Amino acid sequence: MNHPETKQALRPAKAEYARIATEEAFAPAEMLEMYRKILQGPDPDPGFVSLMGFYMSSQSARARHIIECLQDLGEKRLQHMDEAGIDRQIIALTSPGVQIMDAESAVSFARTANDELAEAVRNHPTRFSGMVAVAPQNPQEAAREIERGIKQLGLTGVIINSHTHGEYLSDQKFWEILEAAEANDAPIYLHPNTPPRNMIQPFLECGLDGAIYGFGVETGMHALRMITAGVFDRFPKLQVILGHMGEALPFWAYRLDYMHRATVVSERYASMKPLKKKPSDYLRENFVITNSGVAWGPAIRFTQDLLGMDRVMYAMDYPYQHAIDEVIALDGLPMSMADKKRFFETNAQRVFRIK
Ligand code: CA
Repeated sequence: MNHPETKQALRPAKAEYARIATEEAFAPAEMLEMYRKILQGPDPDPGFVSLMGFYMSSQSARARHIIECLQDLGEKRLQHMDEAGIDRQIIALTSPGVQIMDAESAVSFARTANDELAEAVRNHPTRFSGMVAVAPQNPQEAAREIERGIKQLGLTGVIINSHTHGEYLSDQKFWEILEAAEANDAPIYLHPNTPPRNMIQPFLECGLDGAIYGFGVETGMHALRMITAGVFDRFPKLQVILGHMGEALPFWAYRLDYMHRATVVSERYASMKPLKKKPSDYLRENFVITNSGVAWGPAIRFTQDLLGMDRVMYAMDYPYQHAIDEVIALDGLPMSMADKKRFFETNAQRVFRIK
């Protein structure tokens, strides 16, 4: 389905809407070089070894296709977009981005990557938009880089690849980053990472640590930690984007509301304080969800019912899920043309402020 050899003449028809793909990845060659050093260094992170260790060493067609496409911000990417009927990609540094690096390298490399992405956006302003990569390892510098990326480089949105060395944005030490995102009207795309060292073992031993499940569990928990820590009471205008149908959180909404209230009332945990609203209210007001990796009508419909038609957007997850047949399947969903235009085009234009 998502292998390069299955790309036949299959092409999506011209549509009445532009298709904007909102979770598309790139990786500068210099970053892959740094990854190689980290992988060869002492005691590398087990999730990182499982993920990038695999993609960077496997000779399988899938791995080679992904590594090649990740590094291209020019003709190859544009050709793949044309073949798949994608009008615009919103591009972000691939997971785990700079978050696997030491703080100093991460700060410096985030700047380099943002400069490179901004140049590609300048070269192809009608086809590419880009998100700002930051190093949460240094919250003050991350906040500065958000401002530089949005105001000077013309990037739109911030990419954070879930946990940073096992730490979460629910921790107040990171709130300077959230403050900067809110102040710059920049949504944070909370993209998956492999589970951290203290969580990954049961996933690893059965091969479930990656995109198949571990990504979703870890990232869904990250988003939920932000909700229950009161992040959105403190930053009510902050918008967080979750891929993969909201990492299953919409499906949990009823139980989250019920058990959050029961837990607060029983005073079971000092860490679980009362919130101004129900957990599901924050999902409806502070989250936008993309269907990256999930070209499946019932899940999209359910999420649209819960969050509203304005809060569910299209994403392909290129090059990891480079699947033209999925674009055709999504074009054919039983949705009104007005709603399809919201899903593919206008929600992304609003969220990423694309003119
Ligand atoms: Ca992705």
